[in-house]
Amino acid sequence: MKAIRIYNFGGPEVLKHEQAPDPKAGPGQVVVRVKAVGVNPVDTYIRAGGYGDRSFPFTPGADAAGIVESVGPDVRTFKPGDRVYTHGSLSGSYAELVLCGENQIHPLPPKISFNQGAALGVPFATAYYALFYRGCAMPGETLLVHGASGGVGTAAVQIARAHGLTVIGTGGTPKGRELIAKEGAHHVLDHSSADYLDQVMKLTGGKGVHLILEMLANVNLGNDLKILATHGRVVVIGSRGPVQIDPRDMMGRNADIRGMTLFLATGPELAATHAALGAGLENGSLRPIIGREIPLAEAARAHEEVMKAGAYGKIVLIP
Ligand code: NAP
Repeated sequence: MKAIRIYNFGGPEVLKHEQAPDPKAGPGQVVVRVKAVGVNPVDTYIRAGGYGDRSFPFTPGADAAGIVESVGPDVRTFKPGDRVYTHGSLSGSYAELVLCGENQIHPLPPKISFNQGAALGVPFATAYYALFYRGCAMPGETLLVHGASGGVGTAAVQIARAHGLTVIGTGGTPKGRELIAKEGAHHVLDHSSADYLDQVMKLTGGKGVHLILEMLANVNLGNDLKILATHGRVVVIGSRGPVQIDPRDMMGRNADIRGMTLFLATGPELAATHAALGAGLENGSLRPIIGREIPLAEAARAHEEVMKAGAYGKIVLIP
């Protein structure tokens, strides 16, 4: 098969498109023929060496969608021909075939395309985990999705809207903001404008928001604490550096800053998360947004694009 392989940590140029051995399914394992691969910012951090040691060469990627090619002898939940999406893998998803543990794949409903399936794993599980496990979101609350135009943000807007929250989403471009409104945000603001935090306060009648999902905490955390309602929570999903905060902003509100990494979600939490996502896909409330398709051979270009401003849903690679 063709796969992307990495022989040393570095910039996008270390992603090599080359021939690699076909994976074989052992006990409890499934091989999926990949139709689309989801590109996540974390793939670039891993490629650059920011997530610790790896044995080389390795194939990056957690997210993909495709068709089950073969299953290990004891696998009962899936069979060859099933449409599935992956969240995590044993061999790396930037490839024509990916080896997964049985618990790393989930059914892909017929009305969800393979491209959309590749956008599910990390982004939708992160949004769900942030909202309900870390953020304790409740219907009727007001949510700020601070960075709502990308993979995690669009997922959070759709999930929260379906769950009965009032959703405010921010985006940095007109196109991104149009998308956020279309996906269900009640109010859309521009995080590059000077007065958008004042607008959050106006929209909430001066009370502030109950929950913030934060995609860029190194820029926003200090300000987030000033626009929280009493007992408000900020869930830090993304951060690319240090930030200064005034702890008194938390004290005066009984407020919480809650960090999260999806890698620490337990098996039962992930199983419940994907069951909930499956229900949302079936009833039509969840519709992953694909911004761009790029050939697998041009994975390096995708890694440059995913780190640029002007997000619009998800970037997928096509093998
Ligand atoms: P993405 O698709 O590239 O989207 C990035 C988002 O951040 C866009 O909505 C972008 O908006 C927004 N943004 C840019 N500048 C901003 C600002 N000043 N204030 C608020 N938002 C801003 O990335 P993603 O897949 O959604 O992931 C978002 C972040 O979460 C990344 O840093 C990623 O590494 C992290 N993440 C963490 C976990 C975890 O387990 N903790 C899991 C998944 C992702 P515009 O482009 O419209 O300006």
